[in-house]
Amino acid sequence: MGILIKLGISLVVMAFLFIAPMGALDAGSLAIKDIAPEWYFPEWLGTSLHAPSFQVLDTTNKYGRYAKTNKIITLKDLIKFHGHFCGGLVESAGALRMAFDRLFPDGIVDRTDLRIVSNNSACGGDVAAYLTGARLRFASHHIDNALKESEFVIQKVSTGETVRVRVRTEAYPTEVRTQMKKIESGKFTPRELDRFQDLQWDYARRLITRPLQESFMVEKVSDYQWPEPICKDLGERRDNDYKNAPEK
Ligand SMILES: [Zn+2]
Repeated sequence: MGILIKLGISLVVMAFLFIAPMGALDAGSLAIKDIAPEWYFPEWLGTSLHAPSFQVLDTTNKYGRYAKTNKIITLKDLIKFHGHFCGGLVESAGALRMAFDRLFPDGIVDRTDLRIVSNNSACGGDVAAYLTGARLRFASHHIDNALKESEFVIQKVSTGETVRVRVRTEAYPTEVRTQMKKIESGKFTPRELDRFQDLQWDYARRLITRPLQESFMVEKVSDYQWPEPICKDLGERRDNDYKNAPEK
């Protein structure tokens, strides 16, 4: 019975999510936002008042022009890419939401027009790549371990506008870091491992149940010295070259 009720609720949620007209592949407003709960995606991650999501603009295909509409990326999509739900993922998504609000006042993130610097955090680095379209192999995603986790420098390439975003010191629970160091030392009990997850999830919940400005600060940067590329030169990205090609 419980399963049937859950299934019913999920179907109702999905019905509300798919209300936008589907239309042609590249026309109209396509607003599909998948926040249905899954075993790896607790319901509150989708429904919390300040859970970030992202409208992104891409091209329609390789050597295609800009798409006429956009996509919505949610925390759930990020988890599918990254592999797990963790505090770092939610923290990084919140930080980048703040940065994009500054760089793209119309709310649509152009993933063909960004470069970013992150540290080498598995979680923050994945979020950086997914949300910006920047890639290490094309020297648009740089790594600088002098940055903290979930600290990013992001540039809108076409205008040169650059911002730095990071977590406010007072917003980060030191207990998470203490417990993380313990786990990374390799000397921990199973209970302590579970405790770390609980701490991270509590932190994530706190981040998205209050305005992001309370947890993150973003500032404009000028004269930023971009780090040297990590990868050797393997060639440039070409698939966005004709995004502004005329129709006829
Ligand atoms: Zn992670």
